Amino acid sequence: MRIDLHSHSTVSDGTQSPTELVRAAVAAGIDVLALTDHDTSGGWAEAAAEARETGLTLVPGIEMSTLLDGMSVHLLAYLPDPHHEALGRCLDEVVRSRSQRLPEMLTRLREQGVDLTLEDVLRVAPGTAAPGRPHVADALVAAGVVDSRSEGMVRYLAPGRAGWVRRYAADLWEAIDLVREAGGVSVLAHPWGRGGKEVLGADVLTALKGAGLVGVEVDHEDHSWATRQELRALAHDLDLVITGSSDHHGEGKIGHRLGCNTTDPGEYARLLAVARSAATHAL
Ligand code: AMP
Ligand code: ZN
Ligand code: FE
Ligand code: FE
Repeated sequence: MRIDLHSHSTVSDGTQSPTELVRAAVAAGIDVLALTDHDTSGGWAEAAAEARETGLTLVPGIEMSTLLDGMSVHLLAYLPDPHHEALGRCLDEVVRSRSQRLPEMLTRLREQGVDLTLEDVLRVAPGTAAPGRPHVADALVAAGVVDSRSEGMVRYLAPGRAGWVRRYAADLWEAIDLVREAGGVSVLAHPWGRGGKEVLGADVLTALKGAGLVGVEVDHEDHSWATRQELRALAHDLDLVITGSSDHHGEGKIGHRLGCNTTDPGEYARLLAVARSAATHAL
């Protein structure tokens, strides 16, 4: 059984619609796929309908944008009640803040001689609930300023670069509380990628587990082989569920093909067991 627990559609910053994503997963031999768009459950219904057609098991999820000690941390929330009010308010605030900062980003880019309009950005973001930096990067590609989304992010939109503008993110501890209150299961996404190990060391992971964290994503392209081995051992010691995923974004992220990392069926079963006991709503 091939299980991929982290993927994005056009509802956030992937390049495939939920329907296309599910079809691509079936074609890639995936049996269980989690759709985890950034800060929104907006793609769940479409993906679930296509999953029913094709026999794929869809796990509804959300990749939440959170902060710990000023560092951006992504939290995967699986199977939360999408109608939970406080969780919904938190997600709405991130989504609103993400698009509200676009005009300021474009002003800053213009000061650097890069002239993009809001329409240029929205044109390359069809279907998204939350246009953000990846879409601005795509507009830079469309304008011929850079060759790839990744180059646009790194050269113009990363912290400290010309187009960088801060946006709201929930506090990680609060987000874990919210996911639990909403009957979901929280798993840290790529915790030791991009400098995360400094902030999310053994002590912090232990405390997060105490606060309700259920698992950590170990097998992810942002983790080297050595990092995976070390994190796997720590997760095992802390009795955290260990997941592995592609973090597929269609054409939006190179080297993250569906199924390039997968989750062990036993670990997936543990995750589902927690979800069943935590559920405040029909799964
Ligand atoms: P935002 O929430 O608007 O600040 O955009 C952040 C999102 O951009 C992240 O969640 C990633 O999916 C994406 N991202 C960040 N860095 C890169 C990169 N180097 N290449 C492609 N996508 C990236
Ligand atoms: Zn993304
Ligand atoms: Fe992420
Ligand atoms: Fe992701």
